[in-house]
Amino acid sequence: MRLILLGPPGSGKGTQAQRLVERYGIVQLSTGEMLRAAVAACTPVGLQAKDIMAAGGLVPDEIVVSIIADRIELPDAKKGFVLDGFPRTVPQAEALDELLKHKHMKLDAVVELRVNESALVQRVETRAAQMRARGEEVRVDDTPEVLTKRLASYRAQTEPLIHYYSERRKLLTVDGMMTIEEVTREINRILHAIGAAESKSSGKAGTAKRAAAGTREATKKAAGRQVKPAAKAAKGRAPAKKAAKAARRAVKRASEAVRKGAKKAPRKAAKKLTKKRAKG
Ligand code: ADP
Repeated sequence: MRLILLGPPGSGKGTQAQRLVERYGIVQLSTGEMLRAAVAACTPVGLQAKDIMAAGGLVPDEIVVSIIADRIELPDAKKGFVLDGFPRTVPQAEALDELLKHKHMKLDAVVELRVNESALVQRVETRAAQMRARGEEVRVDDTPEVLTKRLASYRAQTEPLIHYYSERRKLLTVDGMMTIEEVTREINRILHAIGAAESKSSGKAGTAKRAAAGTREATKKAAGRQVKPAAKAAKGRAPAKKAAKAARRAVKRASEAVRKGAKKAPRKAAKKLTKKRAKG
């Protein structure tokens, strides 16, 4: 099973990812965790990512795409994976499509956790307090100020992925305001409904079932989402074209990085970033 969990910070992606890991024997691939580990270990990637993450920004696409490209090569990801925190931009999604295509792998579903933004600040504050109580180090980006920036990044750069995956008939929306247990149950229910829960190879059966169940419409209805009005959709067309162009460029870069093999891309991207910084 190959899944993506999509949702703003504090929507419960990490919690649900862990439950999916236990239930289906797949691995959780969290770019946030991987980047935090890189920061802690002071690797070149970590050094580049540190300030960006602390400020609530997004680490360059090339870096995260390269990290994921390396990670899904490892044997433990063969059985399947749940991506948590990746992709976060349209170019990252395009690059992932390219990567999976290259490896003849298919994505089963993208599970979107829908939450009220007003609840997120509270959730993140609670998470920080719980970590402090356990004597754990609190994430430097778990402050109200940085969270506001992370939410802005989500809205501007990650939310377009809802449309991206909806168009590709991969999107399943779950109400993330329910209890943890209820959200888990709902995710499992829809994964069974589309046939992803049984099919380890995620072949055609899932696709057929998905089409038959009309999942996209059903989940949209369940989440109370309105179909985008035509005028609004038309308005979004020009930026979409621009984004698509940028995405194609990123995919080209990413697949080049994949072809050239592992670790060169982050270093190259890091170099570029250093140059940019030195200039500004
Ligand atoms: P959140 O709780 O905000 O979803 P994560 O633990 O997933 O946080 O990620 C923490 C930070 O790591 C992000 O704010 C961002 O700076 C960086 N990051 C993680 N994944 C990505 C990604 N796919 N692309 C760019 N930056 C990322």
